[in-house]
This record gives sequence, structure tokens and C-alpha cells, in this order.
Amino acid sequence: MLHIECFTFNAFQENTYVIHNNAKDCWIIDPGMYDAAEVAHLKKYIADNQLKPKAIINTHTHIDHIFGVAAIKEAYNIPFGIHTKDAPVLNGAAGAAMLFGFTFGKAPEPDFFITEGSSPFAGLEDVQVLFTPGHSPGSISFYSPNAKWLVAGDVLFNGSIGRTDLPGGDFNTLINSIKTQLFVLPEDTVVYSGHGPNTTIRNEKLYNPFLQG
Ligand SMILES: [Zn+2]
Repeated sequence: MLHIECFTFNAFQENTYVIHNNAKDCWIIDPGMYDAAEVAHLKKYIADNQLKPKAIINTHTHIDHIFGVAAIKEAYNIPFGIHTKDAPVLNGAAGAAMLFGFTFGKAPEPDFFITEGSSPFAGLEDVQVLFTPGHSPGSISFYSPNAKWLVAGDVLFNGSIGRTDLPGGDFNTLINSIKTQLFVLPEDTVVYSGHGPNTTIRNEKLYNPFLQG
């Protein structure tokens, strides 16, 4: 069975997820740890649970989702994967951090690129990659039909949707991604978002003010 653990890090209250299976292999999604204390917190969880980190996989590469990538790469020597179409966003990360007033060195280099249909979770065949652009050009979501959850990044939130005013964002593309990629999933699928509490596909279909009609 897959286990998913949520951590909330940095000034943007970003959700970082750790997924692990029975073999204790783990994947870190969107490591947002900004300072040493947050890095130590995540590393303690991995150590306490005797997990074996396999890769860092990002839903997208806005700064609040990548603050902790370098520290995790250094600690565990594991690769960092993103969707090809988010490469320009990652390249602009250092500049974006400066604009928001954060200390951030050079953006980490991706070690591999993810495309739709490919599985970046070697050994976790159950997790599918859905291409869900709009919040950023290379936003992807991760869906497990057996565990009945979706990691949606900043595509869909409890009662809201991702902002589309950042470079490469597009409102109509985002709405289309949600309706064609996410709202077709079983309604009891639990949605783990990049910010805020989790929700379900059913709840968002019924109550999300951006997605009525
Ligand atoms: Zn974002």
C-alpha cells in the first residue's frame, strides 16, 4: 500500500509530500523546505521511518516548490525530475526568488524530464502522470487509482484554483486541464494540493466557485 505524508513549509505555506511503499522506497514531491530547520524536519521523517529516497519529482517548478531541492539532492544523491515544459520556469526561478525577496542561489538542474504517459516513479507502476498545464506550462499531477488519491500541485485547491498570472500561466488552459484531466477521475479521489487542506474531486465539482457550469 502506498502511504502519503504531507508537510507544510516556507512562507508560502507550500505542501511537500513524501510517498512511500511497503518496500520503504520513497519519492519526495515538491520539496519546499526553505531553511535548515525545515530540511532537518523532513530528513528526520525519512530517518525515523527508515525510508530509502529514490527521486525528487515536481508537479511544477515555482520557487515555493523547489526551495528544498538542492538540500535533498545533496543529502541523498537522488535525481530531480520535472516536465520538459516547465524548464523555462525553473530557469527563471532565481530571478523570481529575488523578486519575492527570498535568498535562493542558483536554480537546481533537472536530472531527467517527465512526459505524459511516462512513469517517473520506477517501482510504483500504480502512479500515473497527468499533464495539467495552465498554472505553469509544464504542470503535472500524479494519480494513484488504487490508493485513490491525486497530487495536484497548484492546479486545483480546496475551493480554489491555481493563479494564472505568473509567466507561462493561462486561465483557459488551467480550466480545461481540470475539467478534462481531473474531473474525469472517480469522485471519491482525494486531492492533495500544493497549498491548503486536501479535498475530493466530488467536493470541487460541487462547490468550487471557479468550476461551476
Ligand atoms: Zn505554483
